[in-house]
Amino acid sequence: MKGRKLLMIPGPIEFDPDVLQALGTATTSHVDPNFIEVFGKSLELMREVWKSPKGQPFIVAGTGTLAMDMAAANLIEQGDSVLVISTGYFGKRFRDIADCYGAKTTFLEAPLGEVVSLEAIENELKTKQYKALTITHVDTSTGIMVDPKPIAKLAQKYNTLSILDGVCSVAGEEINQDEWGLDVVVTGSQKAIGVPPGLALLVASQKAMEVWGNRKTPVFNYYADWKNWLPIMRAYEERKPSYFGTPPVNLIVALETSLKIICKEGVSERLKRHQNLARAFRAGITSLHLETIPKSNNIAANTLTAAYYPKGIDGSALLTKMSNNDVIIAGGLLPELKTSYFRIGHMGSVSSSDLITVLGALESALFELGHPIESGNGLRAFQNTVIFKET
Ligand SMILES: *Cc1c(COP(=O)(O)O)cnc(C)c1O
Repeated sequence: MKGRKLLMIPGPIEFDPDVLQALGTATTSHVDPNFIEVFGKSLELMREVWKSPKGQPFIVAGTGTLAMDMAAANLIEQGDSVLVISTGYFGKRFRDIADCYGAKTTFLEAPLGEVVSLEAIENELKTKQYKALTITHVDTSTGIMVDPKPIAKLAQKYNTLSILDGVCSVAGEEINQDEWGLDVVVTGSQKAIGVPPGLALLVASQKAMEVWGNRKTPVFNYYADWKNWLPIMRAYEERKPSYFGTPPVNLIVALETSLKIICKEGVSERLKRHQNLARAFRAGITSLHLETIPKSNNIAANTLTAAYYPKGIDGSALLTKMSNNDVIIAGGLLPELKTSYFRIGHMGSVSSSDLITVLGALESALFELGHPIESGNGLRAFQNTVIFKET
């Protein structure tokens, strides 16, 4: 279609047409029986996607940051020690949020392109009683993926709550909330969950809900207080009307549609698709002599790729050329490196043909800007690596 651009940034992403159609249906009352069913079903489907049959899901109007804020507001009290494990921009955001609630934060930051070692995390957990630790599953600023499983295990060993920022990972990377013992897993709608921006989503473990229930001080945030939202989530799940703040009816109708699409594909099938496409895309990027920020493939995200511009290439000119070729990609996000790298999202309904389009546009943009590549190399590497579905 003329003028149609492919949105390949790490959120918002290209949304499934069925999700967009659901978004455009006539808005009903938030206590309409049909909507109560949709809300209740969405909560149930979240448990499936998070793999948390015992968890307490929350759906609230807001962004991914509100979901992070909600976890912190409800679980952190003034003076609590919080360990923030950071692999980029969003690790710093969690530190800022924890600081905001009066936590004593310790910030463990990985060198650029790497992850914090388990040894460093355990050594820190030994020094004092931490109330909680935070992990950024995929830091969208660096394209680094952290394996949350062993960290959640350490958190359990030291009786610390584990909070996972899954904004760029839920429904795109492997998450087994209950089995791994993760206490809170948060996300936002516009990333791998595949719904336009505007929903803060999280699932809290029974332990997290107990810790919240045993707080000594009130929650210092009116809107985010679980006291206000827990009865609402329970009511919708019991298919009963209730009200605290008007839910974003259309977004929740779209959420249910997307969660159904995810469960129909199968959470593990969806994960395999993301892994397959990400691996092939990295092969394409590498064949164009581009260096990715993650220093090894086993810590590279499956939901996006972050790569440096080649030497001598003007980043903004590259982004403009890509856009002229109808492919929208994102620039850098880390303040200190903003102009030296770019990011391409490949999550949600992404397909191999989307990524072939991106690589084609990238090849021609790089070529026009004078980067010495042989056109077709990236596409060949991609095609030779990707596993096409058997029919
Ligand atoms: C996008 C993102 C956020 C922030 O989400 P918003 O919806 O923009 O508030 C937080 N953490 C990670 C890892 C993200 O990718």
